[in-house]
Amino acid sequence: FLLLIGVGSIVVLIPLSYFLAGKSLQPIKETFEDQKKFIANASHELRTPLTVIQTNVEVLKLKEDEQIKDNMKWLNNIGSESETMAKLISDLLLLAQAENQSLSVEKELFDLSSLCHQMVVLMTELANEKEIELGENITPDIHYRGDEERLKQAVRILVDNAIKYTPIGGKVQLCITQGKRNIVIAVKDTGVGLTEEEKAKVFSRFYRVDDARNRETGGYGLGLNIADYIVKKHGGKIKIESVPNEGSTFSILLPRTNIKQDTKKNNHNNY
Ligand code: ADP
Repeated sequence: FLLLIGVGSIVVLIPLSYFLAGKSLQPIKETFEDQKKFIANASHELRTPLTVIQTNVEVLKLKEDEQIKDNMKWLNNIGSESETMAKLISDLLLLAQAENQSLSVEKELFDLSSLCHQMVVLMTELANEKEIELGENITPDIHYRGDEERLKQAVRILVDNAIKYTPIGGKVQLCITQGKRNIVIAVKDTGVGLTEEEKAKVFSRFYRVDDARNRETGGYGLGLNIADYIVKKHGGKIKIESVPNEGSTFSILLPRTNIKQDTKKNNHNNY
């Protein structure tokens, strides 16, 4: 009789618990899916009015009107704040696409060395504003098959961070070399650096080492999460070497497997 009760309760309880668990997990799962959809849709919808605001500000700034000239400071504020917002929206959109696996990655052959050089040119003004010496050490003609725009975004995040987290008067250098196994894009800085514990966390979404200290640098702790995602989509990884108060080197390692016939065999290192 006891055996019958035991077997009977197993037969009844196991399916019942599965049923109840399924019922209670379902809404959570759906809410999560809804949340992702909401972020993707909201990001799309927010972009349009923001573009209109930005265009209007630019039109106003061009007007030959004394009153507008007197108020240029406010127009510039609107311009730069809406730029920050546009960046956040596009980051959120990218992450939402990454979450629902709809982020496409192109595979076109392009010159990665020239991408790095262009990045240095593009970021020089930002570096100059902070009196940071932005240098480069570029092996020419490294070609790579991948998504040029996305990789540009990843390199830009690393250079932008290096400038953001390096005090006035410091140095930042962007290097690209190719080893036997990997192409390496390294961004070196003489900035605040990271502890081992911080290094382990910086790729997490919304993580910022010291929010209070970082508040004036802007940002939402999304950049490295995005860069990491893009690089992983190319089969690569981002490596960090860092010493607190001395500086950091963030290196993007891209496997050369897909570019064997496309690159010139020069400047091998041991990566
Ligand atoms: P954000 O810069 O918007 O805060 P990120 O995801 O790009 O977000 O970076 C996460 C955190 O990692 C930053 O808040 C900063 O504390 C730290 N970090 C990133 N790059 C560097 C760097 N080059 N030197 C020191 N700390 C860095």
